[in-house]
Amino acid sequence: DSSSGSSGFASKGSFPGRIPAAIGRKRLRIVVTGGAGFVGSHLVDKLISRGDEVIVIDNFFTGRKDNLVHLFGNPRFELIRHDVVDPILLEVDQIYHLACPASPVHYKYNPVKTIKTNVMGTLNMLGLAKRVGARFLLTSTSEVYGDPLEHPQKETYWGNVNPIGERSCYDEGKRTAETLAMDYNRGADVELTCGKRANDGSCRWQVRIARIFNTYGPRMCLDDGRVVSNFVAQAIRKQPMTVYGDGKQTRSFQYVSDLVDGLVALMEGEHVGPFNLGNPGEFTMLELAEVVKETIDSSATIEFRPNTADDPHKRKPDISKAKELLNWEPKISLREGLPLMVNDFRSRILEGDEGRGL
Ligand code: NAD
Ligand code: UDP
Ligand code: UDP
Repeated sequence: DSSSGSSGFASKGSFPGRIPAAIGRKRLRIVVTGGAGFVGSHLVDKLISRGDEVIVIDNFFTGRKDNLVHLFGNPRFELIRHDVVDPILLEVDQIYHLACPASPVHYKYNPVKTIKTNVMGTLNMLGLAKRVGARFLLTSTSEVYGDPLEHPQKETYWGNVNPIGERSCYDEGKRTAETLAMDYNRGADVELTCGKRANDGSCRWQVRIARIFNTYGPRMCLDDGRVVSNFVAQAIRKQPMTVYGDGKQTRSFQYVSDLVDGLVALMEGEHVGPFNLGNPGEFTMLELAEVVKETIDSSATIEFRPNTADDPHKRKPDISKAKELLNWEPKISLREGLPLMVNDFRSRILEGDEGRGL
């Protein structure tokens, strides 16, 4: 019976509607906040395909029902339009907390809302996790390292972040979210309200923290301002690719399926983190433009634009910790991954999808 075992609601008796899980493991009920977004929707696909029940919570700020429409009608899938800034009562085993706009254009659109999402949203999801004894995973970001003075970045680096700049609503918001997660984790044993003790094996309540580096793939919003989605959409539309600044700043680009594998390995593993999840392959924006040109259109051109404020000069993850403790590393290089998103972008551009350009 899947209602027994480690779920926080076992004391409330059997759970109507729960059906036996795949052989060998009890079926989990999992919340994915931000599950209608780019990363979230791929994560939901993986959790559903392995046999678990998924409840998505999303306010559709940057997420789209289109990303999940193939799951409508699946009895193990549920979609709730809800803003994580407001409390919510659910009974679940695990919470993947992704809700937060990720593109700089989106998170700067309403910075106060971004902070509220990061702080109040994370607080609410931690309160929920604590109440029901669910395991909680926070998707933090490489932006916690700010404009890094260490390269590549290890998890032990404390970062170089401007607390009052245009990116702060996101960087500092995620830093506070990490602080909240760690404080709840430290207090878990004494504060647990699900009636179990975190350390006696009867409850899975603990937190996990992932620091995600730039990720790309199908279902990114068209025109969302992020560099890979911009360059790919521009090259398909035969517009010049917009390179900000001198184009010599670097990023390390991870394909979305690698990230999803990393998130699940982290949730299922025994370590709190934080863990860098990213692909160490580092590219300047000019090199990225070159790869997009090779992949989509050899006649594609570039156009220089002024850079945005506080843009980190370089970024590359040190992933030794995830390799050693999670047995995880990315498998898909930029040259392999880019073509996988191009088909999706081509068909959406043809269909006239307007994306979420703000
Ligand atoms: P996304 O914008 O595609 O998805 C975010 C989702 O959260 C959307 O569906 C949006 O509607 C939802 N959302 C936003 N605010 C909400 C709120 N207040 N209540 C409920 N739902 C809300 O972004 P993504 O790329 O899928 O990123 C997912 C997570 O991963 C984010 O937390 C982001 O910070 C983190 N992350 C992503 C990257 C990346 O490169 N994609 C890098 C670092 C961290
Ligand atoms: N919370 C929630 N769902 C729950 C439990 C808590 O949304 O199932 C919210 C709650 O409203 C509060 C936050 O999570 O705003 C933190 O809850 P906690 O119990 O840790 O703190 P307290 O309510 O004592 O401030
Ligand atoms: N960038 C660019 N052209 C664009 C969009 C972004 O050159 O059309 C640059 C941007 O200045 C930054 C890098 O690409 O240096 C990555 O930006 P993105 O917004 O994708 O992610 P983040 O800054 O959050 O890493």
